[in-house]
Formats: sequence, C-alpha cells, structure tokens
Amino acid sequence: MPEASERIVLVGAGLAGSLLAVLMARNGQPVSLYERYPDPRKQTVPAGRSINLALAERGRMALARADLLDTVEAFALPMIGRMLHDDKGQTQLQKYGQRDDEVIWSVHRGHLNQALLDAAEAQGVEIHFGHRLDGADFEQQRLHFIDQDDQACPVDFDLVIGSDGAGSALRKAMDAVSPLGVREEPLGHGYLELTIPPGPVGNFQMDPEALHIWPRGGYMMIALPNPDRSFTCTLFLQNEGEPGFDQLAAAKDMRAFLEQAFPDAVALMPDLDRELAEHPVGFLGTLYVDQWQLDRRAIILGDAAHAIVPFHGQGMNAAFEDTVALADRLANEPDRQQALADFQRERKPNADAIAAMALDNYLEMRDRVREPRFHLKKQLEWALEARLPGEFIPRYQMVMFHPEIPYAEAWARGERQAALLDRLTEHREQLDEIDLNDACEQARQALQQA
Ligand SMILES: Cc1cc2nc3c(=O)[nH]c(=O)nc-3n(C[C@H](O)[C@H](O)[C@H](O)COP(=O)(O)OP(=O)(O)OC[C@H]3O[C@@H](n4cnc5c(N)ncnc54)[C@H](O)[C@@H]3O)c2cc1C
Repeated sequence: MPEASERIVLVGAGLAGSLLAVLMARNGQPVSLYERYPDPRKQTVPAGRSINLALAERGRMALARADLLDTVEAFALPMIGRMLHDDKGQTQLQKYGQRDDEVIWSVHRGHLNQALLDAAEAQGVEIHFGHRLDGADFEQQRLHFIDQDDQACPVDFDLVIGSDGAGSALRKAMDAVSPLGVREEPLGHGYLELTIPPGPVGNFQMDPEALHIWPRGGYMMIALPNPDRSFTCTLFLQNEGEPGFDQLAAAKDMRAFLEQAFPDAVALMPDLDRELAEHPVGFLGTLYVDQWQLDRRAIILGDAAHAIVPFHGQGMNAAFEDTVALADRLANEPDRQQALADFQRERKPNADAIAAMALDNYLEMRDRVREPRFHLKKQLEWALEARLPGEFIPRYQMVMFHPEIPYAEAWARGERQAALLDRLTEHREQLDEIDLNDACEQARQALQQA
C-alpha cells in the first residue's frame, strides 16, 4: 500500500473519479480530486452527456463496495424490460430476464454524481472544483491547472490518475511524452435528447417500468423514466444521409420527421419546438487506447481510456468496474508500476469486448428487434437458460446481470452461442419446431469447445 504522505491526484470528479476517490479513501489512500466545473451541488453546470443512465449489476457491485448502493437505489427506477413501439403505435414488452431480480435501473446522472461527491467528501477527500487540467510535466511531477479566475495553479504529484472523460487532458499530456496508441472511431451517428414531461396530474405518460424503444431500422429513439415522472428520450440517427441530422438541421424539418417516425411519442412532447431550437446533437464514437499507463506516475481509466457507444448502457458500468479494479491493485500491490500494469492487463481486454458488444447492440436495438427470427432466438435462449442453468446464459444477461463473468468472456461465449442459435433456428418459425433436448446437447458441446 502506498504511504499516506504520497501525493495522489485524481483529475475529473465525474462518475468514475468520484467513486474511485471514495474507494481509495476507504483503503487509507487519501487523494486530491480536481474538477474543471464548479460544484454541481451549488450551481447548475453545463448540460452534460445524457441526463439519465442505465445502471446494471456491474455498476451496482462497485457501488456496493463503497456502501453506496442503498443511497443510489433510493433515487433509481427499476426497468424490467424493453417496451417496443412499432410504427403503428402498438407496444410490446420484452422482459430483460426470466428472474424477477433481472432488472436495470434508470438513474439521473446529476443525482448520482452528487451522491458520489457527498460520499467522497464524507471520506475526507479534498475536492477542488473549477480547476481544469491544462498540461503536465512528468519529469518534474507537476500538473498545470487553470482555475476559474484563469489563474495558473501548479500541483505536484507522485501518482496522477485520469478520470477526465473521453476528451481526457491527462491522456493527451501522457501521449505527448510517450505515444499511447490512441484511435478514435466515430460512429457516424449522433444523438439528440428530448423530453416527455409528466402528464396533467403529474403522472408518468408511459409505463415507467420499461426502457422504451422505437426501432425504425437504421435509426431509433429510446426513453428512460426519471423520478420526476418525466422521460428523457434520445434519438439516435446517422449524421449524414436520408434521413440524417444534416438534412434535418432546420427545426421544422426535424419536427416533420419526428412526427412521421414517432407520432405516439411526439404527441407527448409539448416542448418539442423549444428543445429542437436549444438541444445540440451529441457525438458518438469509440475510443481505443493501447497503453493506459505511464510507468509508475500516471494511469487513465473510465471514458478517458475506453469511451464506447451507449447502446449496451455499459460505459459507466465499465468505468465503475475499473474503479474497483484499480483501487484493489493500488491497495494490494506494493510495486506501483506493477499495480498499474496489472490493472491495465485485467481491464483492457474487457474494455475492448464491451466496446464491440456495444456497437453490436445498436444493430440489435434499431434493426434486429424488428425481425421475427430475433424473437425466436430470444425464446430459444431463454429455454436453454432454463434447462441449463449456469451453463447457458444469454449474452445480454451475462453483460447486464453477471458481473462475475468478465466482459471478454461474455463476448467469447456469446459468439459461440450466437453461432449455435443461428444453426438451431435456421428454417424454423416457432419454438415448438425445435427439439430442445437436442438443442441442449448441442449447446453443451458448443460451450465445452472453449
Ligand atoms: C448518450 C449517452 C448515453 C449513455 N448511457 C449510458 C447508460 O445508460 N449506462 C452507462 O453505463 N453508461 C452510459 N453512457 C456512458 C457514460 O456516460 C460514461 O461511460 C461515463 O460518464 C464515464 O464516466 P467517467 O467518469 O469516465 O467520465 P465522465 O463522466 O465524462 O467524467 C469526466 C469528468 O472529468 C471532468 N473533466 C474533463 N476534463 C477535465 C480537465 N481538463 N480537468 C479537470 N476535469 C476535467 C469532467 O467535467 C467530468 O466531471 C452514456 C453515454 C452517452 C453519451
């Protein structure tokens, strides 16, 4: 364990940074936390990415490690499945899992961040708001921050940890000293957030126990419930093309498109014109970084190391898993450089795996859910899971509800299972056309070939 007099600086008090500060402080490793924006508990900060987030088992495990699960669940809303809205306005609920506890949770990003900041301060973490990292001198072990009055604030460090998000300033400073192998792959699709407010008597206007999806083939809209009984809707659409954000740049064109593609949702959006005038289109892409560490002096984690597209709802969950892994390595491995290397070795394959699965899930949510064969495969997956408990677990379930299975393993097992499901459902339309005993046998064999 590092000595208490060591100067450990964490850059970025977002979701990962504030949770890591709590975990490290609980391990007896005091850290100083620097955040570019003012304290969000005292004033409104610029709107960040996505108002609400899906929290799943991996994130819940990390919160439980910090004894924060009850605090967060007090303002989280459980979602039991996907509510599909077809183009005729018909809805169909697809449950996420067969067990009642297989639910995911809608949490408000701001409330979650504030709860984590409260917890960090309660653990004695010093938080310096309004300090933007502007550069780093790794020879001198000195960070250069700019405060809210535009004054330079040098801060000395022994270890600096970058939890400063996808545009990480620390990553850029490290990369300038020793190239990290950074690659950004834009998705070519962006997102736009809209709101379905509470109804006339303060009611939810749709089922609050579901994540709503309007899959339209090539694009889609989703909606997650909020504790104030509103829903935050997110339109995902290509940046260029027919239809694309470029062609729908004028608010009236976007309104006409939304009315045609999602009439049932638009009917519940009285503030649509104002939101179309004010809300920006967000960027989506995947960030790959080969090297997360600079010897014993610096490490990045969360979105700073592996930002992913949001279609599996796992970016924050993965970042939370990182915090537990890094806090454990730093607490248990006395050789600092080794601890950081071990952390990267454990997490990088998992980050790559969830990046790939998140990209694949966009195709599933916007396209495949519309196909009858997709639903047959889902039924078969569930039948196999029920007959082979613990052996056959659908990939979605592994990612969302089985944190004991690393992402990389979920991906590899999922690939084998997908090939099997393809084979077993070929030329079939109904589950009763499939011999389930034979399917179980084939599933066992496929999984044993690992
Ligand atoms: C549309 C959308 C929907 C999403 N939905 C989900 C979801 O449902 N579930 C899920 O698990 N994930 C989701 N994500 C992903 C999730 O938002 C991120 O993975 C998560 O926020 C990463 O946390 P982080 O702490 O690494 O980075 P961030 O949350 O980005 O925090 C970085 C912090 O660093 C600060 N900072 C930045 N630069 C500096 C600097 N130079 N100096 C000091 N401070 C700095 C920032 O102000 C911020 O506070 C979604 C993302 C998007 C875009």
